[in-house]
Amino acid sequence: MEDLSAIFGKNVFNESRMKERLPKEAYLALQKTIRDGKHLDINIANVVASAMKDWAIENGATHFTHWFQPMTGITAEKHDSFISPIDDGNIIMDFSGKELVQGESDASSFPSGGLRATFEARGYTAWDPTSFAFIKNNVLCIPTAFCSYGGEALDKKTPLLRSMEAINRQAMRVIKLFGNEDVTSVKTTVGAEQEYFLVDRDMYDKRPDLLFTGRTLYGSMPPKGQELDDHYFGTIKSKVKMFMDELNRELWKLGVFAKTEHNEVAPAQHELAPVFTTTNIAADHNQLTMELMQRIAKKHGMVCLLHEKPFEGVNGSGKHNNWSICTNTGKNLLDPGATPHENAQFLLFLCSVIKAVDDYQDMLRVSVTSAGNDHRLGANEAPPAIISIFLGEELTEILEAIENDEGYDTKEKTVMRVGVHVLPKFPKDTTDRNRTSPFAFTGNKFEFRALGSSASISGPNVVLNTTVAESLKQFADELENADDFDATLHNLIQRTIKEHKRIIFGGNGYDDNWIAEAEKRGLLNLRTTPDCLPCYISEKNIRLFTEHKVFNEAEMRARYEIHLDNYAKTINIEALTMIDMAKRDILPKVSAFVKKLSDTVISKTTAIGGIDCTYEESVIKELNGLLNKAFGKTEELENCLKSVKKSSECAHEVAEYYKDIVIPEMEELRNLVDNMEILTDSDYWPYPTYADLLFGVR
Ligand code: ADP
Ligand code: MG
Repeated sequence: MEDLSAIFGKNVFNESRMKERLPKEAYLALQKTIRDGKHLDINIANVVASAMKDWAIENGATHFTHWFQPMTGITAEKHDSFISPIDDGNIIMDFSGKELVQGESDASSFPSGGLRATFEARGYTAWDPTSFAFIKNNVLCIPTAFCSYGGEALDKKTPLLRSMEAINRQAMRVIKLFGNEDVTSVKTTVGAEQEYFLVDRDMYDKRPDLLFTGRTLYGSMPPKGQELDDHYFGTIKSKVKMFMDELNRELWKLGVFAKTEHNEVAPAQHELAPVFTTTNIAADHNQLTMELMQRIAKKHGMVCLLHEKPFEGVNGSGKHNNWSICTNTGKNLLDPGATPHENAQFLLFLCSVIKAVDDYQDMLRVSVTSAGNDHRLGANEAPPAIISIFLGEELTEILEAIENDEGYDTKEKTVMRVGVHVLPKFPKDTTDRNRTSPFAFTGNKFEFRALGSSASISGPNVVLNTTVAESLKQFADELENADDFDATLHNLIQRTIKEHKRIIFGGNGYDDNWIAEAEKRGLLNLRTTPDCLPCYISEKNIRLFTEHKVFNEAEMRARYEIHLDNYAKTINIEALTMIDMAKRDILPKVSAFVKKLSDTVISKTTAIGGIDCTYEESVIKELNGLLNKAFGKTEELENCLKSVKKSSECAHEVAEYYKDIVIPEMEELRNLVDNMEILTDSDYWPYPTYADLLFGVR
């Protein structure tokens, strides 16, 4: 058996490698930069770059790249080789501190939402020393942030790093109020569970919809779906197992702590969960995980689908963002602890999250929105588009007792005072935890379950970090001025529970009653992407992000534009693909089948005379009707797309048009085609079916 500890982090320039390869002075300076965000002296940067390069070359690297995460949601890299020519016609392998710290990149091909004026195409990438450099495909990858010439964020990493600073600033104020002299910094931590589908590569290649859009735009349900629940946690097929083994090994080499793997609810659906780590590293690691899943699946004759809803009528894929707050001394601030003191601190941090989620439901919702995720949230599947928090029965009862100055335990008559009494023990992770909740407390962390499977986890964590920073800021403002700390703390917690308890919901989130109840409580129900995007530019949210220096107003407006544009483009590509598939494959094939049936009727009648052609005649009639309707719909859809171009300059109106006009047309066309599929001879049907795709990996 191979030594796994020798593999782990093999391709990462991590702390032990730094220690091993850097002179002591450089090592200490770099540690300081990583820990406190201190600027790294260029001489030290040169030393670090040189050591990194030597290590990378020894491990097979020939090139380096600034690895960054533009607003496309995936990663980007531009490779430069280490080779530098020298005077005598030879070469040396070179990599300077300047090349490590900053890069210049043509920003014009990445979405900027108007931040990058066309005459200024340059963008900068800047090293993020808190995320280790690594080797991937013989390229030394330097994790970087990506900004415009004017310093505005053009990527997903910059705001995440800023939001980590924001929550650190505010949490430290609160931490100090509770003593904790040894704590010097606070970071949020994330474990992102990733769901995905695996389908056979040959079948995938035959489906233009999967190729162009990542999801099936047509397809009727197979006789067997997920109703038997026999896939969930079932035995993993050997081909899939081999894929998972290789994926794990490659992830371990990159220092990603892939830990659990299992089948999911839907056939062909699987999940990978890593061990949690610091949020910005977790975001980098999740990107790497998605990239490797796709690459390694291909090697095994499969394709990994990361789309939120690859198959209609089958569970979609999400990501569960497990989130907590941790001090540099290793204390999880969402862990209740054992003493009244620890309990009080825990309750305050818990309240900071409850308040943040209630005050900024809209931002949390918008942080997970996309055309793909619209098929899950607020559609027929979980979690709902309404943001609410599940705390579990015990904790909910404790909060109620504090709110109403009642004893929690009926046997014990004392009324619980925060900071004085010990919280009763409650189970860390009750097995019946509510799976329908979009945001659940699971004992020592919150699990945000509304994320889509294909998206970067950066956005939702920017929102979590910043909104909780805002709660903590308000708490610190009040507590820092308190004469009687314990009394003020108790009142603050009590008041926060009173003001924000509407966001707490322990019932079934899929139930229609919840929609009515949530409306009564005044909670938002933003069902689609065009519905929720305007909150990016609401006054309240702009104020929040600018005050905490996470976004400036221009950056928020840019993101709003990018998301609207992305939504419209996605639907447009889907509609065009549907039209293309219908016109070039489906309609001609169905027509040919109708002709074949008609020929059969003629030959049957002429050959034998008067013979019963019930089957042929009824299918001809039905299929021919559907065929002509589908043709009509295709034309209508085409016209819809033509008129959108002329329709409006306003990006939000365009997005609304796609939602209200184009999507319903697409659904109608799909419906007609799916009905034709059921009636058509499988030899004539141009594509692999749902059954082939869902049960095709053996
Ligand atoms: P399980 O769901 O198998 O019981 P856990 O609930 O412990 O396992 O963990 C689920 C995910 O939550 C894992 O990715 C794990 O690393 C992550 N996680 C656990 N603790 C924390 C934490 N303090 N902060 C962030 N993520 C965490
Ligand atoms: Mg989970």
